[in-house]
Amino acid sequence: MKVVVLAGGTGAAKFVRGLVRVVDPRELTVIVNTGDDLEWWGLHVSPDLDTICYELGGLLDPQRGWGRREETFHCRDAMAALGRASWFNLGDRDLATHLFRSEQLRAGVPLSEVTATLCARWGIASHVLPMTDARVRTIVTMDDGDVPFQEFFVHRRHAGAVHAVRFEGAAGARPAPGVIDAIHEAAIVVIAPSNPVTSVGPILAVPGITEALNTTAARVAAISPITGSAAFSGPAARLMAMRGWPTTAVGVAMAYQSFLDVLLCDAGDAALGPEMEALGVRPVFTSILMSGTALAERLAKETLDAGAQ
Ligand code: GDP
Repeated sequence: MKVVVLAGGTGAAKFVRGLVRVVDPRELTVIVNTGDDLEWWGLHVSPDLDTICYELGGLLDPQRGWGRREETFHCRDAMAALGRASWFNLGDRDLATHLFRSEQLRAGVPLSEVTATLCARWGIASHVLPMTDARVRTIVTMDDGDVPFQEFFVHRRHAGAVHAVRFEGAAGARPAPGVIDAIHEAAIVVIAPSNPVTSVGPILAVPGITEALNTTAARVAAISPITGSAAFSGPAARLMAMRGWPTTAVGVAMAYQSFLDVLLCDAGDAALGPEMEALGVRPVFTSILMSGTALAERLAKETLDAGAQ
């Protein structure tokens, strides 16, 4: 059974960890946000692609949820001693990924091909695709003007009012090779429990992807990153409010309304059921906390079961 996941970073990685335990990893395609990519110390960094690949390759640091396990930060500290910005934490092992990717991109190799090479080297059987090979950048408008996504998320620790979020370059981008076919060939497409605005939003903004989700014969399921009126982590609730969506699972249903069949939500949110059904979305109330592999695996299985009904 072919499964497609639309993914951001940390929330998606937790779900994918469970999913590869209940599907054949070779049947899995993960389409990943690249709106929060950045250039750092002259290197091209793709944080969400790396989080997903490190998870699938067994390389992810389980405590932090990003970066590589057994990591050290000597280079970052040495750069700080040279007076260079060091708020974006690139570890020493992690640096090899960015050096390799940057070298390949400079030689004209598309990001999707670089990603495939990295996956092959890391022994990853699943297909990991960037949403596009084009340059798309998520830009956040704050009180003092426009800032790139990582400046907002990491440097400012997502503090401060957000007035707008836009995806620079998305309108002229094309889906990476394989993205549209994967969505059409899937039995189920799962929107990971990722930030609907800044992780899934950029993927949906690439022309052709939302249309493919609207027209695929696959069931489309999502897992809410929101329980009650709060995100498990990060600024998802605030950014959803900025978009004018309720900061509950109903807001998640609204974000994906045009193609969403099933939404897995927290059991405590059962009172929201009628509002979701009014949007044409079937809610499944269960435990959506993924604090550990066993819970992620159970949630992945429930998601596939819900999509099969
Ligand atoms: P990142 O922000 O780029 O790291 O990546 P994501 O957007 O994939 O991940 C952040 C989202 O994951 C946040 O909106 C969280 O609320 C959500 N999240 C984190 N842990 C969990 C969990 O255990 N269960 C669910 N359902 N969502 C989670």
